[in-house]
Amino acid sequence: MKIHEAEARQLLADAGLAVPDASTATTPAGARAAAERLFSGGAAQVVIKAQVLVGGRGKAGGVKLAATPQEAEQVAAGILALEIKGLPVRRVLIAPAATILREIYLAALIDRSSRGVLLMASAAGGMEIEEVAAKSPEAIVRVVAHPHAGLLPYQARQLGFGIGLSGELLKQFCVIAAGLVRIARSSDADLVEVNPLAVVPAPELPGGERLVCLDAKVTLDDSALDRHPELAAWRDADSEDPIDREAREQGIAYIRLDGSIGCMVNGAGLAMTTLDLVTQAGGSPANFLDIGGGARSEKVAAAMRIILADPGVKAILVNIFGGITRGDEVAKGLIAARDQQDRVVPMVVRIVGTNAKEAAELLTAGGFETAASLDEAAEKAVALAGAGGAAR
Ligand code: GDP
Ligand code: MN
Repeated sequence: MKIHEAEARQLLADAGLAVPDASTATTPAGARAAAERLFSGGAAQVVIKAQVLVGGRGKAGGVKLAATPQEAEQVAAGILALEIKGLPVRRVLIAPAATILREIYLAALIDRSSRGVLLMASAAGGMEIEEVAAKSPEAIVRVVAHPHAGLLPYQARQLGFGIGLSGELLKQFCVIAAGLVRIARSSDADLVEVNPLAVVPAPELPGGERLVCLDAKVTLDDSALDRHPELAAWRDADSEDPIDREAREQGIAYIRLDGSIGCMVNGAGLAMTTLDLVTQAGGSPANFLDIGGGARSEKVAAAMRIILADPGVKAILVNIFGGITRGDEVAKGLIAARDQQDRVVPMVVRIVGTNAKEAAELLTAGGFETAASLDEAAEKAVALAGAGGAAR
């Protein structure tokens, strides 16, 4: 689950990291009032930022500075009228504007291949990290923190030295880096990213500079949300992708891929096997979808809607192993779903296990293409997807 910058900043602040005070508003007048408070508190300028669950807001005109309350109101009105990468802006964040000397990138993410918390830092902050990775991969420094031990001091220093820090800034950097790892651990986040981690003037300090977190992006592990009701409450369902939302609400595990064969399977292992066999048969899967155990016909119909919402789907492969799930329920769901859908794509269905015979009768009567083995089903699906069967 993605959370908005405003809430992500709160996680950082709660962990004791340097984050400028901020508030949010949903109207231009609210933004003006927030700006007034900051100006009377001594701010020379304020920054107004769109709260949407995508990156690149700066480039899209969703991050702007204002020097007076009036200007803050106008700027907020402009930003609240924007749509960024298809997402309407419903809320803005208002904070005192920092004077940025340099921008650093720093992130902690769960890394399955190293089985740890991967920290990535780059002196080329501000830019999106994918861009840095493409243009100058050597500019990204990495260390892996042990999930239980956390980031050890020497590792934090190694990361900081790697991006050219020393002295007071290095000390601050180490505190922030260790903080991100702690946040990842304590909130079960799979990503905690600060970009930019800004170097700002600090005449009171030796070296005259300090670090502040000016942006925060946090994604939480959905499977761990039960342990964090206070974080789960931050979900902004209106800003979620509608398809992802329906899948979540129906209890369907759905991950979109970029192929052309939609797959509806019960069980995660069987779903992965199905993707492998589709690939082996020369096709390319459009999604991973696990309808779970004991799925009733309504859930099957929902899964069908979710698969068909992807315009790249040219054929559907249904692969059900009936244990708790009853084959005839799935068959009924498929028939009902086909009658409701406005886009018709060829389908091949394999149902084995509980009530397979009843399922086969229903499917044959309904004119569905069926298959006895998974290999056969995969081959048929690839053939049905036709020329569109290759990766799009
Ligand atoms: P993103 O584009 O969605 O990642 O949004 P960011 O919060 O990272 O803001 C984009 C850019 O706006 C940053 O890289 C900064 O250059 C600039 N920016 C953000 N906050 C401030 C600020 O307080 N002061 C100044 N001068 N620039 C800011
Ligand atoms: Mn950013």
